[in-house]
Amino acid sequence: MRHFAVVGSGPAGFYTAEALSKAYGENARIDILDRYPVPYGLIRFGVAPDHQSLKAVSKRYDKVAETAGVDFIGNVCVGRDVAVAELLELYDAVILAIGAPHDRKLGIPGEDLPGVVGSAAFVGWYNGHPDFTGLDPPLGGTHAAVIGNGNVALDVARILSKTAQEFEGSDIVGHALEALDQSAIRTITILGRRGPHQIAMTPKELGELGHLEDALPVVDLSDFPPREADDALEPGQRKSVTILREFAEIRASKRKAMIFDFFAKPLSIEGEGRAEKIVVERTELDEKGGARGTGETYDVPASLVVSCIGYSTPSIEGVAYDERGGKFLNEQGKVADRLYAVGWARRGPTGTIGTNRPDGYEVADRIAADMPPGSSSDLPGAEGLKRLLESRGVMPTDYDDWRKIEETEVGRARPGSPREKFVRHDEWLQTLGR
Ligand SMILES: Cc1cc2nc3c(=O)[nH]c(=O)nc-3n(C[C@H](O)[C@H](O)[C@H](O)COP(=O)(O)OP(=O)(O)OC[C@H]3O[C@@H](n4cnc5c(N)ncnc54)[C@H](O)[C@@H]3O)c2cc1C
Repeated sequence: MRHFAVVGSGPAGFYTAEALSKAYGENARIDILDRYPVPYGLIRFGVAPDHQSLKAVSKRYDKVAETAGVDFIGNVCVGRDVAVAELLELYDAVILAIGAPHDRKLGIPGEDLPGVVGSAAFVGWYNGHPDFTGLDPPLGGTHAAVIGNGNVALDVARILSKTAQEFEGSDIVGHALEALDQSAIRTITILGRRGPHQIAMTPKELGELGHLEDALPVVDLSDFPPREADDALEPGQRKSVTILREFAEIRASKRKAMIFDFFAKPLSIEGEGRAEKIVVERTELDEKGGARGTGETYDVPASLVVSCIGYSTPSIEGVAYDERGGKFLNEQGKVADRLYAVGWARRGPTGTIGTNRPDGYEVADRIAADMPPGSSSDLPGAEGLKRLLESRGVMPTDYDDWRKIEETEVGRARPGSPREKFVRHDEWLQTLGR
């Protein structure tokens, strides 16, 4: 028998558990640990609440959790409740799938002013992440700015633009829905350092902006290269750029505007005790396709600034860490003897949910090469872990506990919403009678 601890129950953790279960069959016990009693990582706390079809991928993860030999052990934070070195004494291999939950810093003056928030915090706030329940983003001003040109920036801009009716069918949490409904924001400027050809936005997400009830996407065609230049783009990117160009043809008058401000590099965020504006430098593309400042500056008013410029994995004691890449140091998923990393903790914060599947399978193959299925050890696995946690007063939860939480959330859903999430850690535990 082999015992594996997968740390993190996001997509990478579940795909790795699935692959290990297939590779080892009855000869392995796989424990998926998570710091929260609720599984799925960013599927619950990151993916936009109005993208329910994507969140449905969790049904596949449920099947993994229900497989014989696979267990979910929630409410255990690795690095705090138990050290990685301790897990390695209990398990044959430990696979770190903890994602990249920290916002990257902008690195400009004024980024710590009230009103400036990272996307992990903002997205966590509307998705019911317990760390961000009290964020209370300032929505009382008329101008907001979103820094970044990827899909997360689009999510944030769209959520700021939608009407309450447009959240019908979503699982946005009540506190966010209420606050957004009262919001005074009328312009949302999306700042990107480079041009339309360099965006990291996908066609589906961009296309949605053209059909919003109350908001209009605005582009300036003079930011675009000649149309023939689009031919050189890869098909998906060409489609995205075509959609952007089409925004210029929309003739409608709406209350809110989402302004795409390309070739715009934030220099500082300024204001009297809180964010009021971003000072931006106009850029141009350099020979290598990077952004080069032109020296021309201007102000973009914003009392709410959401930076969507990427994430990093926190370091964990005793685990080699790549400071520059903001992820664990690893060689094709291997961090050290019997220690592996998968998903965003391995690769950094890029790719879609599906990208984590081959990643998890590849690392499972590596583990199977290092300790072939059929081989065994006499390590205690979960039994040893539970004894250790009990001695520390840590109360782990299981998948049945999650089902109870889920059932309660579904039971309290307001009309038109699939659930009303609990937004505090103690509410989860109270529901379980702990
Ligand atoms: C805002 C946002 C929107 C996105 N939207 C989409 C989308 O629409 N479509 C798409 O394909 N992709 C989307 N993605 C990308 C997708 O969410 C990621 O590819 C995927 O979630 C990464 O998986 P992961 O398992 O590596 O990390 P995560 O999903 O972050 O999972 C990590 C897990 O580890 C747990 N954990 C963390 N630290 C510890 C610890 N110390 N001890 C125990 N457990 C711990 C966490 O609680 C979490 O459950 C989005 C990402 C973001 C940020």
